[in-house]
Amino acid sequence: MKQAKTCAVIGSGIAGLAAAIRLQRQGFAVTVFEKNASAGGKMSELNAAGFRFDKGPTVLTKPEYVEELFTLCGKRSSDYWNYKAVDPIFHYFFEDGTKVRSSKDPQQLAADVEANTNASASSVLDFLKQSETKHFLTDEVFLQRSLHKIKNYLNWSTLRGILNFGKVDVFRSMDAANSKQFADQKVVDIFNRYASYNGSNPYLAPATLNVIAHYEITLGTYFSEGGIRSIISALQALAEEIGVTFRFHASVNEIITEGNRATAIRTEDRKENFDLIVSNADVYNTYKHLLPTLAAPKRFIEQPRSSSVIVFYWGMDCTFPQLGLHNMFLTNDSQKEYEHLFGTGTLYEDPTIHLTSSSKMNAADAPDGHENWAALISVPHDTGQNWDELVSQSRKRVINKLNGILKTDIEPHIVFEEVLDPPKVTTESGAAFGAVFGNSSNSMFSAFLRHPNFSSKLENLFFCGGTAHPGPGIPLCLLSAKIVSNLIEEKFTPAAE
Ligand SMILES: Cc1cc2nc3c(=O)[nH]c(=O)nc-3n(C[C@H](O)[C@H](O)[C@H](O)COP(=O)(O)OP(=O)(O)OC[C@H]3O[C@@H](n4cnc5c(N)ncnc54)[C@H](O)[C@@H]3O)c2cc1C
Repeated sequence: MKQAKTCAVIGSGIAGLAAAIRLQRQGFAVTVFEKNASAGGKMSELNAAGFRFDKGPTVLTKPEYVEELFTLCGKRSSDYWNYKAVDPIFHYFFEDGTKVRSSKDPQQLAADVEANTNASASSVLDFLKQSETKHFLTDEVFLQRSLHKIKNYLNWSTLRGILNFGKVDVFRSMDAANSKQFADQKVVDIFNRYASYNGSNPYLAPATLNVIAHYEITLGTYFSEGGIRSIISALQALAEEIGVTFRFHASVNEIITEGNRATAIRTEDRKENFDLIVSNADVYNTYKHLLPTLAAPKRFIEQPRSSSVIVFYWGMDCTFPQLGLHNMFLTNDSQKEYEHLFGTGTLYEDPTIHLTSSSKMNAADAPDGHENWAALISVPHDTGQNWDELVSQSRKRVINKLNGILKTDIEPHIVFEEVLDPPKVTTESGAAFGAVFGNSSNSMFSAFLRHPNFSSKLENLFFCGGTAHPGPGIPLCLLSAKIVSNLIEEKFTPAAE
């Protein structure tokens, strides 16, 4: 019997796990190298003082991309992982007392917008229709395949995209499109903030990104039972069952090359040969630290970084009935906030806060009569700022803003606290400059400027994860793994010749 070819996956983020499952399933013998003690990267969890927090993502869309991995391996995903629809999806709060709730029923969202703002219901429904069209025109062309292979342009879906290019809306910014669409700045701000989902600036990012509303609202937002972390546990269990080997506490220090091939990887204690290597580590760091002698593609390396985050994980000793799972407390001046983030690289005094409380959906995440809060603000990526000072300043600003809108004093109710800041994002998940989403999408060419899923210099080196094509976020990371496995399937047989 021919021996299986070997494949190393560097990193066990969601994309690394998905790539490992797909490639093992294709017949390769896959080993995952993870520098941390456990899998998941940014999708980690914090358990302390009776509270459980999802440290990273909380908004789950396209759960079918997770399910697909179980189906591929002949398993029923519900035996491993379950989820339920979230409704209302978001509770939006403004300082003047205005509240808007987004719902999985577009009619209901539109009615709520019309009842509470100066924007019409029809402008919301029309916006969602445009988002759906953008999804229809871009999904296959921009997300499901490599953008960097000529043959992928020779098909009907690309031609359809080209014929309808105007509707893809690349030539104006999200803000330009939304300001024209909605007769109320509050509603503009609600839809502009989708730019923060990939760490971008709605005043620069192309209006194509308004497609995110279609994912979150029309296709729906879901809650992963047991928390988002349970996706990682389920995928790790599946990977182990089908034979993937995991090495934890195994930081890869170098990818060794010979000519146009990556031949081995070096960890602290050994060098191991592999037929294929897939990097799920941040692409910038893969070049900088693992391939120091290989010239990195300049066009990619020089792209501006996405924003980062400060997150306050707070255990609260009381409950807040006015809150839901996802709550957004909007700034009074969104333009100023983004100018600070991407212009001066500083923090605005009145930040937009995304407050998630998973105990609203999963009571076990907090003791009785308590709530778990993850209060997230966008901040610039790490260029060596004094983060201790900025965290302490932000803590005051976040508490003041929440106090003002919730009309209470929350500080005495915080009985547990931990903080995530950009340097910790780097330590915990290996993100270059603490930029959570890799490069920003602040240009109409961003989709083309993300790093391809393959190396143009090393024929057996591939890239998956939020810093490679098609971009960050759980669904796109899962698609990056699919694209990598398709590219490998086209090029390599899983058995040694
Ligand atoms: C606070 C926060 C909120 C977010 N909110 C959302 C959200 O609501 N919805 C959403 O869809 N997305 C969200 N995201 C983005 C999402 O979490 C990421 O895009 C996604 O999880 C990235 O996955 P990845 O596969 O790129 O790997 P990562 O999670 O980046 O993991 C990479 C892994 O590689 C390992 N590694 C790196 N270098 C090495 C090495 N040299 N050797 C061995 N191992 C190495 C790291 O330790 C890590 O485990 C959020 C992210 C954060 C931080």
